[in-house]
Amino acid sequence: MTAILEAREINKTFGAVTAAKDINISVVEHEIVGIIGANGAGKTTFVNMVTGWLRPSTGQILFEGRDITGMAPRRITRLGICRSFQVAQVFMTMTVFDNLMIALGIAESRGLLALLPLRRGDLEARADAILQRYQIVEYRDQVSSTLPQGVRKLLDIAMAMVARPRILLLDEPTSGISVEEKFGLMDIVMGALKDEGVTVLFVEHDMEIVERYVSRVIAFYQGEIICDAAPAEALVDPKVKEFVIGGEPQGWSTHDTAGAGERADA
Ligand code: ATP
Repeated sequence: MTAILEAREINKTFGAVTAAKDINISVVEHEIVGIIGANGAGKTTFVNMVTGWLRPSTGQILFEGRDITGMAPRRITRLGICRSFQVAQVFMTMTVFDNLMIALGIAESRGLLALLPLRRGDLEARADAILQRYQIVEYRDQVSSTLPQGVRKLLDIAMAMVARPRILLLDEPTSGISVEEKFGLMDIVMGALKDEGVTVLFVEHDMEIVERYVSRVIAFYQGEIICDAAPAEALVDPKVKEFVIGGEPQGWSTHDTAGAGERADA
């Protein structure tokens, strides 16, 4: 099978820190890949390089065989690789529906014009269909700042999907979500993403989520890949147990509020 995404011999250093060392990854279409590792292992650096937020020091990143190394994030998004962040990136003072309309407007290159009554047309129908798909219809006219955390997450992911990416990278989709809500949220997200046929890579600290939703696990430690295997194999791998899972119980989740996405701007 041809790879939709390939990282070839990627290295990334920040001064004396090696954040990526000899990374080789090949992802085929429709895979659901969980990226795991302790804090500082290099997960976000990898996501940032794939999405153009960081340029690798050496190595190549290919999307559908095309070299995208060092391309601007906006160009990479247009090619079909989108991301959503640990902290939902929505317009807090706008309603759920208007957030979707803006996202649709940007995806259709209409930007804010999408909000003008005469231009709304079919975009409204699409926004309503998305609300259904992500099961947030009841929040349609609610201002985003007042939404429960899980609903805001769903909205954020729905907004990342309006551009119909081929690959979606998610940063800890369940961070900040209660234990009771996490599986419900993931069922909705993964159901929707599967329906849309998108290839998914997501950073996750919660091993219960990894075990249940991914088809493949890539474990990072100190910038290197220490395991790349199916979850059943990866989660019992001695190195993964020692350097990623540690002695923590299943479902353990670290929540780094200073999301690495912010650091990537540095
Ligand atoms: P977390 O789970 O805490 O988000 P991570 O696995 O995503 O961790 P990265 O954020 O990729 O880890 O960081 C890998 C290493 O690179 C760390 O040592 C980090 O301090 C360093 N690093 C990441 N971004 C930068 C940056 N912009 N400038 C300097 N060092 C950085």
